[in-house]
Amino acid sequence: MKLLEERIARDGVVKEGNVLKVDSFLNHQMDTDLFNALGKEWARLFADCPINKILTIEASGIGIACIAAQHFGVPVVFAKKSQSINLDGDVYSAKIESFTHKKIYNVIVSQKFIGPDDHILIIDDFLANGCAVLGLIEILKEAGATLEGVGIAVEKGFQKGGQELRDMGIRVESLAIVDGMDASTGKITFRPQPSHT
Ligand code: 5GP
Repeated sequence: MKLLEERIARDGVVKEGNVLKVDSFLNHQMDTDLFNALGKEWARLFADCPINKILTIEASGIGIACIAAQHFGVPVVFAKKSQSINLDGDVYSAKIESFTHKKIYNVIVSQKFIGPDDHILIIDDFLANGCAVLGLIEILKEAGATLEGVGIAVEKGFQKGGQELRDMGIRVESLAIVDGMDASTGKITFRPQPSHT
């Protein structure tokens, strides 16, 4: 998506360790007009899917998922990061390894909010090694829900997550795919995506 690529090129900051900082419009300060454009584009790309719920993960996914949800007319459920496994057994849970924080944490979703009748779109801000999305997929499997696809704002195409998910037959629509970035020059290169606006 041209609008997002231009914004990343203008305001994104490339850090050592393959980290792209987008704090000024996506991860900390949030540009809700941009989020609205992302939501509209996902709604266009997934128009053929019977999506009735969006699943994301706290914290950075929530803002984009909520605005996207208004374009789909569906509720959002976010997976909560939890220190402990809930012993009551009324939650689905998965372990996720954080790319940015290099630690493993549990995420949980109440069984009240996802079930076998649900057709889910997963939305998240970044796709790197795919751990976050694979954890959410595990939760959907536990719930017996149907995964319709995955909408990502920024995919780092040089990390394995995107390829792995597509190899599993999952439809992944990343609105910007970064194929390379250089911390010394700050240069970011994007993969052309002809079907996107
Ligand atoms: P994955 O689980 O795919 O390895 O990483 C996805 C998660 O890590 C995202 O939810 C995002 O919060 C974080 N993340 C991964 N790479 C980056 C990055 O380069 N920049 C930022 N800001 N977050 C990232």
